[in-house]
Amino acid sequence: MQPPTAIRRRLNELGLRSRLRAHPRTQGRVLAPAGLLRRLPSVPGLYFPFYHDVPPEYAADLRHHLRTLRRLGPMVSWDEALAVLAGHRPLTGPAFCLSFDDGHPSWRDVVVPVLLDEQVTATFFLTTGLVGRPGNLTWADCRRIRDAGFAFGSHTVTHTRLADQDDTGARREIADSKREIEDELGVEVRDFAAPYGQPAVDFTERDVRAAKEAGYRSFATTLRPAMHTGDSPMWICRQGLHPAWPIMAVRSRVHD
Ligand SMILES: [Zn+2]
Repeated sequence: MQPPTAIRRRLNELGLRSRLRAHPRTQGRVLAPAGLLRRLPSVPGLYFPFYHDVPPEYAADLRHHLRTLRRLGPMVSWDEALAVLAGHRPLTGPAFCLSFDDGHPSWRDVVVPVLLDEQVTATFFLTTGLVGRPGNLTWADCRRIRDAGFAFGSHTVTHTRLADQDDTGARREIADSKREIEDELGVEVRDFAAPYGQPAVDFTERDVRAAKEAGYRSFATTLRPAMHTGDSPMWICRQGLHPAWPIMAVRSRVHD
């Protein structure tokens, strides 16, 4: 069997990955066999599934994912998840902490209505430079989402790969986005999600340090393992999902 990195490289060469991303149902079918030998979480572990855009045709699928996960364990807020990591809240089985990245209008039109209906909380990681641009949320939309009881974190200003930035540029992406959300929404922003999220490739230790210096209490990556009490909040592992995926494909990312 080829190691996963070699497969990933090969897929990239073929341009398949981006083509699959544009066709999430096909992507889900391609990923599903990888979930065959995995099972959904059954033992204590903290998972951070996250999504991006959820177009209306996937609203029912998102609901299905959430209901499937919730049957396995509670959906907790980012605050509650950090309390688990700090040992202030027990982890007696699987638990799930949901987030969404970038700043899609479908958050307003699809995601928030589904979450309110399902009584599931979530954190929205905003790329501040996109807010107000055509095809993205406005600050007024974000304020309404805040008023509905949801939390916001930062996802940089320009959605840049932090590892490509010099020290000043990276610091600006991390600190300016925080300040802008705080100014616009009047809430303290203490959670950060790195664009793309792969350590060494997309961000480095320097960026984790810069986030800490800027006043963040958590730093999210796209590494996938379950987390447990004692793990660092400055190295959150999240599992990227698409609602179009069958549960078998979810299992390839969210498993024991
Ligand atoms: Zn992103």
